[in-house]
Amino acid sequence: MRANWYDQFSDSPDVVSSTPRARRVVPIRTPDLAFEIGGQDFITMAGPCSVETEAQLIATAIHVRRGGAHILRGGAFKPRSSPYSFQGLGLAGLRMLAHAREETGLAIVTEVMSETDVPLVAEYADILQIGSRNMENFSLLEAAARSGRPILLKRGMVATVADFLRSAQIVIDSGNPNVILCERGIRTFETSLRNTFDAATIALLKQITHLPVIADPSHAAGHRELVPALARIGVAAGADGLIVEVHPNPDNAWSDGEQSLDFAGFDTMMRDLTPWLALREQFHVCASEGEQMEAAQ
Ligand code: PEP
Ligand code: MN
Repeated sequence: MRANWYDQFSDSPDVVSSTPRARRVVPIRTPDLAFEIGGQDFITMAGPCSVETEAQLIATAIHVRRGGAHILRGGAFKPRSSPYSFQGLGLAGLRMLAHAREETGLAIVTEVMSETDVPLVAEYADILQIGSRNMENFSLLEAAARSGRPILLKRGMVATVADFLRSAQIVIDSGNPNVILCERGIRTFETSLRNTFDAATIALLKQITHLPVIADPSHAAGHRELVPALARIGVAAGADGLIVEVHPNPDNAWSDGEQSLDFAGFDTMMRDLTPWLALREQFHVCASEGEQMEAAQ
């Protein structure tokens, strides 16, 4: 008998589609921009791993906006693997992000690490990021969901698809349907790259859920040379967008410099994605026609 996804992921009934149904499209609006995540357009989120200085952030925001990004990423609260690494600028970083939005019109995605910070981060961010290390912090998920902001939910580095979908279900159960799933690489026996990019799971998530799916080639690769190839793989697997780390001077970045693209690298990646995005457009149109036909039967 063929696997029935609905039975396999029965803990997450509002995430898994038993029959094709309308895709969840997450609307984003800033004073200058209005767009959707999970719709026809491919959405790029780009920016530094950490917000460091006003000059670093604004220069990056202007550059990525020109290169076609819709959303500026940047951490103000950083979940670092070492307690002795830079932990983020906190409120000062959030203020810099809000200033960058004013200057460029880009929407802002930034991580919230603790339940008590949710109201503050939600005041500044258009999208709240739940990091890999917090994917199963259910009280944080509930608090973030209740803020009403869309949630970018990053897959835990040792989370199965079922675990991932359960966390998405918790956000939806808390009254927030605007969940965006993000595959950022998982831990496996392979250690040559920072993580193993699970592109098959992007294809699976697009098949079995109605939520938007974003690929994070930066944390998956851990090395900037590999980021453009993983971005292309993400597009081919059916991702609705990318989140990618970009820094004016990656070798001096305060976090994740190894995997951050410089401005020229970002431009090259975006240019090289063009033919893949054109193919995606054809594929996307077919997929939505297919769904409508099946839904109408
Ligand atoms: C990040 O986006 O900088 C980050 C810390 O990501 P992750 O939670 O996927 O490690
Ligand atoms: Mn990072």
